[in-house]
Amino acid sequence: MIDLKQSVQYVKGVGPQRVKILNSIGVYTIYDLITYFPRDYEDRNNKKKIIDLCNGEEAVIEATAITNVTVAVIRKNMSILKLTVGDETGVATITWFNQIYLKNKFKIGNKYKFFGKVTNTFGKIEMVNPVFDNAEENKNTGKIVPIYPLTYNLSEYAIRQAIENALKTVNNKLEETLPDYILKEYNLEDINTAMNQIHFPDSFESCNKARKRLVFEELLTMQLALLQLKNQTTGQEGIAYSKEVKMSDVINILPFKLTKAQLKVLEEIDNDMESNKPMNRLLQGDVGSGKTIIAIISAYKATKCGYQSAIMAPTAILASQHIEEFRKILEPLGIRCEVLLGGTKKKQRDEILQKLKNGKIDVLVGTHSLLVEDVEFKNLGFVVTDEQHRFGVRQRENIIAKGKNPDVLVMTATPIPRTLALILYGDLDISIIDELPPNRKKIETFAVSYSLEERVNNFIRKNIEEGRQAYVVCPLVEENEELNMKSVTKICEKYKNEIFKDYRVELLHGKMKQKEKDEIMQDFKDGKINILVSTTVIEVGVNVPNANIMVIENSEHFGLAQLHQLRGRVGRGEYQSYCILKYRKSTPEAKERMKTMQETNNGFIIAEKDLELRGTGEFFGTRQHGLPEFKIANLFRDMDMLKSVQSVAIKIESEDPKLELDKNKKLNKLIKEKFTKRVEI
Ligand code: ADP
Ligand code: MG
Repeated sequence: MIDLKQSVQYVKGVGPQRVKILNSIGVYTIYDLITYFPRDYEDRNNKKKIIDLCNGEEAVIEATAITNVTVAVIRKNMSILKLTVGDETGVATITWFNQIYLKNKFKIGNKYKFFGKVTNTFGKIEMVNPVFDNAEENKNTGKIVPIYPLTYNLSEYAIRQAIENALKTVNNKLEETLPDYILKEYNLEDINTAMNQIHFPDSFESCNKARKRLVFEELLTMQLALLQLKNQTTGQEGIAYSKEVKMSDVINILPFKLTKAQLKVLEEIDNDMESNKPMNRLLQGDVGSGKTIIAIISAYKATKCGYQSAIMAPTAILASQHIEEFRKILEPLGIRCEVLLGGTKKKQRDEILQKLKNGKIDVLVGTHSLLVEDVEFKNLGFVVTDEQHRFGVRQRENIIAKGKNPDVLVMTATPIPRTLALILYGDLDISIIDELPPNRKKIETFAVSYSLEERVNNFIRKNIEEGRQAYVVCPLVEENEELNMKSVTKICEKYKNEIFKDYRVELLHGKMKQKEKDEIMQDFKDGKINILVSTTVIEVGVNVPNANIMVIENSEHFGLAQLHQLRGRVGRGEYQSYCILKYRKSTPEAKERMKTMQETNNGFIIAEKDLELRGTGEFFGTRQHGLPEFKIANLFRDMDMLKSVQSVAIKIESEDPKLELDKNKKLNKLIKEKFTKRVEI
């Protein structure tokens, strides 16, 4: 049996350099490589006439050699071969680099098929390094070729070759992962056929069959795992909070009136808290809809009933902001709030932990630092995780375990279409805030190319002159913290030293010391900084009502959900706010994203669109909800499959809840493997 956990370095043709590149896209093992699925396919059957060729496209032409191959040797290791070919509509030049062995392959007057990338410069048509066949052959051109997600530094060909070789190594010896009875009952392809056909399909039909099987497996595993998770939590006895403690006591002293939606959600939470079943509730609300106050009021109830609360936020900036709001409202009511961050000094930390254990702290706000083992509560009764898509299921479990079946509120600004939420968050009840606080102005969104940069800068200047502040966000260049820091530093320098010399411009990025970050954020909040240049660390939750401009550099690199989150940083005060999406290169997808951003401010619409454009890879990936990323399923495209798989899962589960029957052994293994892998803590 082949060991799929072996490093990719054992695949033929994968040297140390390739290993590095593959690692950078998350491919470490042979298994990772063969499950690096194509995002699309190229149909090399698709013929075109020379006259119809467009610049940049890849196409097949059937053409006759008009000349012999000419060879120019530029230097020792560099030769250029050229061949002129023609069909009845025009002529094209075929160029090969360093493929001297092709010199005598072509005969004047013979017909060939060429497939490659076309350049059309003022009508001069060229194809560089195409693959080819004799006219009657189908070796290189008559097939369907997989297209993989593009990778920095790795050519299409290289990844294709690596996968082809990996499949050869595997040699049809993959162990079947689905039980026989399921394969039969649902008419699914076996694992080896599916794996081969998904990468190098003989036809689109067999490709679809392969895909169906793999998607089925992926969705079934997820569904079964969710059902098990749900079983773990139901039936346990939780805390029944006293009906005597009234949320309205806080609500009545707030500086603003809660929206109807907020009140409704609070009622749902209040009911949950008073019942003796542990609350397990997901609170969805678009950015700026006012979720924090919900957490504050609920924590009030918990405290007054004699329990401690833990509020976990994904970033220190956010935690710092939360503690401020909690203190503002709860401390006058005699509730003791503290904050614990990764950067909290040891002496202070010790003191906090001591007080926490003795019950002298009522509400503890913090980041992942709350998960550490020595953080012990006296009687934790209420847990909030904010912007939960940043936390994994495991982390949620981890903090919950610090209490005894505490009530749990999970808050997210990533709106998920309800039907999907019901399936994906099978283990949670759902509340939705579907209304923004009154008097919010619609954020105006513009997509502009860099040629308009100066106008954008003047626009920023005008607003700063009026007393406003601006964010400038730079994209992740790649999964490399150092490089990202460099690029954001460079952009910041330009703003600081050239464009906005007269203003205070500061930089914020994830690698900075906590203290520096906090200081800068505080200065920005206090209006001492005019322009804050940052990486996406400010993506979630930060609240500075005076900032009214969000500039996103190279916005084509961001996904829709993320753009929407970033935009949500402005439009939080009384001022008209703007979101400016700067772009350099714009793919059709990027254009579509920008169009959506300009058309709507509604997070739910954006979520649906995001799902449609991007599928689930990232939207519902690990980062979002702690489930393993989908490698192949796309919850938008595969909605129907998801529904039918859900009923399959329920059927299996009702018959064999712990998957202990012999026939379900394989399923059990599948779940264990997938759900213990790569869960970040
Ligand atoms: P999010 O849901 O994105 O976490 P926040 O909780 O940060 O939103 O709320 C955004 C801002 O709106 C905060 O300044 C908060 O005080 C304010 N806010 C919340 N609810 C209301 C309301 N009902 N009326 C007016 N302002 C509100
Ligand atoms: Mg928030």
